[in-house]
Formats: sequence, C-alpha cells, structure tokens
Amino acid sequence: MTETIESGPFIVGKEAMKEFVLGSNGSRNWRSGLFTLTNTKAGTHKTFTVQRKDSETPMWFVRYLGGDNNACPDNYYYLGLIKGFAGDPVFKGTTASPGDGTSMFVAFNWFFNDVLMGSRKVPEALAMNHEGYCSRCGRLLTVGASVSRGFGPKCYGNMQ
Ligand SMILES: [Zn+2]
Repeated sequence: MTETIESGPFIVGKEAMKEFVLGSNGSRNWRSGLFTLTNTKAGTHKTFTVQRKDSETPMWFVRYLGGDNNACPDNYYYLGLIKGFAGDPVFKGTTASPGDGTSMFVAFNWFFNDVLMGSRKVPEALAMNHEGYCSRCGRLLTVGASVSRGFGPKCYGNMQ
C-alpha cells in the first residue's frame, strides 16, 4: 500500500511513546512527530505525524501517510486533532477528518486514546519507530544517543 522506511529506531514503553507523540514544539516542521506503527504479527504498518499548533496551545494536528512518497509532505493527510485544554489530551475527529470508520482513524484513535492515554497495555505485536528526525523540531538526528531517544540534546533538555 504505502511505502515507508521500516528500519528506524524503536521507541519502547508507553511513557517514551507518549513523550515522542506529543513532543513537537509548534515549529510545524513537517518531519517533527513523525513515526510508524507496525503490527508485527500481521506485517502491516501505518505512518503518522503529530504536530503541535504552536508552543503555547495544547493542540496537535494528526496526519497520516496516504501516498506513495513518504518524503513528501503532500502525501500526509489530515486525520484529526489532539486537544489538551481540559485535562489529559484526547484525540478526536473533526468535520475535515476522513471518517471515524477508516482504518487510519481507528488505528490512531485506539493507539492514542486507549493505549497511550488509556489503561490498555501496549500489545506485544505493536512496534513503534521513528524515522531519524527529532520529534520536537524535525531535524535529522545523527548522534547515537539522540537517535535512540528520538530527540536532539537541546530539544530533550527543553522538555525536562
Ligand atoms: Zn530537536
């Protein structure tokens, strides 16, 4: 279906996943918050980006890779919004979403609301990996420690 890099570093554990997914700083670099979820049993995968509106507003735009070229921002389509104005962040569709029943929507809704923010365990068959870019600012990561974390040293320091 879609073409993705599947060799990126894995992000393991709910807390690290949450940190990465909500890690963008509002610069709206299209490579920030870019990650892939793989069902290792089924061999299927889906790629998303989650980008914060700006550094002040607790709102994130969720997009999914729907085209053949994963290096082209035009191939990432709007999926919905994460809002954290009152309490924990929640993912929701909007009138511009592709529809609550589409596989991309169902997958992200389950991953974010049920697993990351909810009480569901991360299934053993679920792997999450990033593609080598800092979740916060979208810059290419080249140093080993940064690559395994998914954040550059400055960006990681700013979050602590
Ligand atoms: Zn960064």
